[in-house]
Parts: sequence; structure tokens; C-alpha cells
Amino acid sequence: MLILLSNDDGIDSEGLIALKEELSHIHDVWAIAPERERTCVGHAITLHKPLRLREHAPRLFSTNGTPADAILLGVKGVLPGKPDLVISGINKGPNMGQDVTYSGTVAAAKEAALMEIPSMAVSLNGRKDFLFGEASRVIRELVEKLSAHSLPPQTFLNVNIPNLLRENVRGFMVTRLGKRIYNGKVVERVDPRGGKYYWIGGDGDGFEPIAGTDLLAVSQGYVSITPLQCDMTTYAAMDAFKKILHHPV
Ligand code: MN
Repeated sequence: MLILLSNDDGIDSEGLIALKEELSHIHDVWAIAPERERTCVGHAITLHKPLRLREHAPRLFSTNGTPADAILLGVKGVLPGKPDLVISGINKGPNMGQDVTYSGTVAAAKEAALMEIPSMAVSLNGRKDFLFGEASRVIRELVEKLSAHSLPPQTFLNVNIPNLLRENVRGFMVTRLGKRIYNGKVVERVDPRGGKYYWIGGDGDGFEPIAGTDLLAVSQGYVSITPLQCDMTTYAAMDAFKKILHHPV
């Protein structure tokens, strides 16, 4: 398979390098990643300045753009053809529950899904001592499992892996997004000239232990697989709004 990798942690991230190495044994793997960390930039794309590409090694590029830009550049400009699969990651740290809204890792996979390319975002549930080699083996297994099947259109996978040795991972679990408890603080400080500035907090690892969710599955040692959709329409709410607005039925 022709595979395009990207991430939001930047070209030097060990998660990207480990995954590229693992998958290159059996696939034609290209990577285009931001030149510096772009965590939490979401699905931003760059429209008002030139995008540059730098070749670091064969099939390994950095860009001054965002993770979503990297996918656009790869698919429309750099790769020899349309990739069979796009993988974003392996991210340093989890992307579960509300994280998916902010995540550049998830946005890169979503960009591919918008172009109807099968894709997944992959994140490792740790804060330090990341076992990227172990997680890369898990992804290789997952890619093998999926390659025989066609995925539903406009759908992509959000994968979160426990930071454990492969033999201690309990298996794959299909989940839905859970609910994090962010600490939600905005810290106010004062700069040397007397002006106020702010830091947004929200790095807490707390979550609500709801059955069937990504956060609970990963905490119990499972690889969480959440199918996500590009279409954000809340179909279940359409009738309620039609009634409110006297829409003809
Ligand atoms: Mn990141």
C-alpha cells in the first residue's frame, strides 16, 4: 500500500519516525509533517502565506504549514499517486473525548477522509516514557486487519493506544467518544510592563467512567477504536428544529 503519514508533533517526533520505520517493512510509506509542533491547532489550513516543503530524507518532508496542510500537500503535490491510507501520529499523548475537537492529529486524518481516503488518527495514552515501538506494532496489526475491508465513506478512525508493552495490551475495542473533565482554569498573570496576560489550563487527565467510551477502554488496557464522521449534522435534532421553525413537514 501507498501510505502517507503526518502528525501535529512535528517532523522530529519519535512517534512519527517509529511508525514510519515499522510500516516501511511492508508498505511504501511517505511522511510530511509540520516543521515544528502544532498540537491543538485543530483543522486550520493556511491560505494567506506561502507553504514550503523541505526534504529531509527520501520520502520524508517537513512543511511550515499545519497538519491539515501537510495532508493536502502530500495528496495533491508530493506523493506519486493517491494514497491507499493516511495515518496521523503517533501522537505524544491521548486524543479522546473532547480532545478530538482541538487536535491537529485528528484533523489531519479528517482532511484525508474529506478527500475520501481511508484514514486514522493514532495517539499514545501517556505523558512520558512513550513506548512508540510497541504502539507501532499495534498499528501494523490494525492496518493488516483493516486492509481486507472497505471502510464506510466519510468515516475515519480515532485510535488511542495504552502506553504498555504489546503483550499487556488487552485487544481492540470499538468505542464512542467519552467525556473528559478538564480543569477548565484560565490563569491570569501580569507581564513585566504591568499588562495582564492569560494561560488556558485544561490539561487534566480526569474523565467520567462511562461504559463503551474511549477514555474508559484505554484506562482498562484496550486499544480504543472510535469511528468518527466528517458530517457534523445532528440528524436526531432536525425534526425538533423543523417544528420550532414551522418548517413544512
Ligand atoms: Mn500532538
